[in-house]
Amino acid sequence: VQAVTKTYQRDGQAPHRALDGIDCQLGRGEVMVVVGPSGSGKSTLLRTLNGLESIDSGAIRVDGVSLTDPATDVNRWRTEVGMVFQHFNLFQHRTALDNVALPQRVVRGRGRAEAERYARDLLGRVGMAEYGDRYPSQLSGGQQQRVAIARALAMDPKLMLFDEATSALDPETVGGILELMRNLARDGMTMAVVTHEMGFARDVADRALFMDAGRIVEMGTPEDVFRHPKEARTRAFLEKIL
Ligand code: ATP
Ligand code: MG
Repeated sequence: VQAVTKTYQRDGQAPHRALDGIDCQLGRGEVMVVVGPSGSGKSTLLRTLNGLESIDSGAIRVDGVSLTDPATDVNRWRTEVGMVFQHFNLFQHRTALDNVALPQRVVRGRGRAEAERYARDLLGRVGMAEYGDRYPSQLSGGQQQRVAIARALAMDPKLMLFDEATSALDPETVGGILELMRNLARDGMTMAVVTHEMGFARDVADRALFMDAGRIVEMGTPEDVFRHPKEARTRAFLEKIL
C-alpha cells in the first residue's frame, strides 16, 4: 500500500479524507493488526485491500496484482480475498452448509457434491460439523461467526480480512473465535485484522499499526507499538482501551 488517499464525498457536507497518505506492507503468511479510534479509517483501509473501496491516489498491489490498474478485474481479485465482518452477514434464508457451499458453486464453479464435501470439511474445522442444517437465526453469534469464517475459507483465499470480527460477541464467545484466528495464522494464512483484542494482537501479529484521522501514526512490531509506543497519541489511545 503506497501513498494511498481516499476521500468520501458526503451530501451537503465537506468531503472527508478517510485515508490520508497510507504506506504499509504485509508479507505473505504475516498477520497485521490495525488499531485506532473510531473513524480513523481502519475499515476503509481493509476495504481498499479487496477493492471494495476505490482510492483517489496512490497504489495498492497484492500478490503481484495492481488493484489501481484500470486493466485489473477487481471483481475477480475480490474472490481471492476473504472478509469477515462484525455482524457475520450470513445468507439468512440458507442453512449453514449452504452458506459455505453456495459461494463455491457460484464463484468457483464447483459441482454440488464437491462444494458440499468441502463445506462439511470446513464446518468441521471451525467446530460446526453438527450444525450444517441450521439456519443462521438458529445459531448463536459465535456460531454464526464460525460459519462466516468457514464461508470465507471456502474460496481458498490468498488473504483474509477481519474487521472487528469479535466485537459483537459476548466475552465468553470471543476466546473461541480468537483461537480459530490464531490457528489460521499458525497455518500460514496472510491476515489483516482490525481488533481491540490486545492480547491477540500481541501474541499473533507480526506487524501492528496504530491509525488516527486517516494516517498511520505508528507502525512496528506489536511489542514496539503496544508496549513502547513513541507517539503521545498512541499512548493516550492505549491507556483508554487497556
Ligand atoms: P470504527 O472503529 O468506528 O469502525 P473506522 O476506523 O473503521 O471506525 P472508517 O469506517 O474507515 O473508520 O471511517 C473513516 C471515516 O470515513 C469516518 O469519519 C467515517 O464517517 C467516514 N466514512 C466511512 N464510510 C463512509 C461512506 N461510505 N461515506 C461517507 N463517509 C464514510
Ligand atoms: Mg470500522
